[in-house]
Amino acid sequence: MLNLGSTSLPSANNAEPKHVKMLVLGSGPAGLSAALYAARAELAPVVLTGMELGGQAALTHVIENYPGFPEGVGGAELGELFQKQAERFGAVVEFDTAQAVDLSQRPFRVTTDNGVYLAETLIVATGARPNHLEVPGEYENTGKGVSYCATCDGWFFKDKKVIVVGGGDSALEEGLFITRYASSVTIIHRRDTLRAGAILQKRAFDHPKVSFIWDTVVTEVVSDDQKTTGVKTKNLKTGEAGLVETDGLFIFIGHTPNTQMFKGQLEMDEGGYIVANHLMETSMPGVFVAGEVADSHFRQVVTSAGMGAAAAIQATRFLEAEEA
Ligand code: NAP
Repeated sequence: MLNLGSTSLPSANNAEPKHVKMLVLGSGPAGLSAALYAARAELAPVVLTGMELGGQAALTHVIENYPGFPEGVGGAELGELFQKQAERFGAVVEFDTAQAVDLSQRPFRVTTDNGVYLAETLIVATGARPNHLEVPGEYENTGKGVSYCATCDGWFFKDKKVIVVGGGDSALEEGLFITRYASSVTIIHRRDTLRAGAILQKRAFDHPKVSFIWDTVVTEVVSDDQKTTGVKTKNLKTGEAGLVETDGLFIFIGHTPNTQMFKGQLEMDEGGYIVANHLMETSMPGVFVAGEVADSHFRQVVTSAGMGAAAAIQATRFLEAEEA
């Protein structure tokens, strides 16, 4: 769990808005890297953590592809290191969540759980959330066998049977992680070829606990009112229906960007990702973007961190140009 440094929250009862040069929304690799660069430029950035400290990366058990950590590093640990480094140069990290933004004039007005900020520049690094299958029984059984986070819930499936849905890097990486606990991991994928990278594919194919059900989708989560007991399936090639018994169902079928509050205020693509140029500038001058909220393609810790740095550098130049 990340250490929340500051306690100087604006109070909901205290109507006085807090005026800042830079407000960063999100505390994942993108937001905290932006905060580091902005802090070193003496902008005293304030980071609103949102509901997920450290972002999605903090939920990853081990990150093996972030440079500088040849043995890998825990996702939560890396988040803490990012935070400490940003705070060392004066960034303030607040446990608070933006609820509404008004970008119609500067300073931008951001209403949070705890008060109101007026921000000269805004860096949107709100990330993306896991997609749901949207099948009967999924919501009812979330927390009772259905999960979207192996690091959070894998432990509960010690010596139990688990199904993973998806064919991308997340499905394989998380499925392999669950083999530490589960007696078996069955990956159900809607096609007969995986989207995941070659290294993960080889690890999964070679793993004695991992098996695959191809060309198949989950149509319903079955439970006994206490917990998940199985999933109903449909083979997309033959149309055949099936029932697979399981104790747990982990769903890794992609993400949706957290951009709801910017609708109608920032340009977005058809997937709801915020559109930005290579300078991390959005359609609104003074609003910059970083990380998965603007990137459905790379979605790596290192690329998100790089985007955060770039956004902060550009925001700094934007403010400098105004002062000149
Ligand atoms: P993804 O690459 O978009 O894969 C999503 C998977 O879910 C696909 O196999 C897709 O099937 C399947 N799917 C989507 N909607 C579905 C539905 N409604 N029902 C059943 N299956 C469905 O997502 P991701 O695995 O989360 O990865 C996202 C990005 O993060 C990728 O760029 C990935 O490389 C990166 N990532 C990298 C690492 C790593 O490098 N270690 C780890 C995790 C993620 P189809 O294949 O048929 O489309």
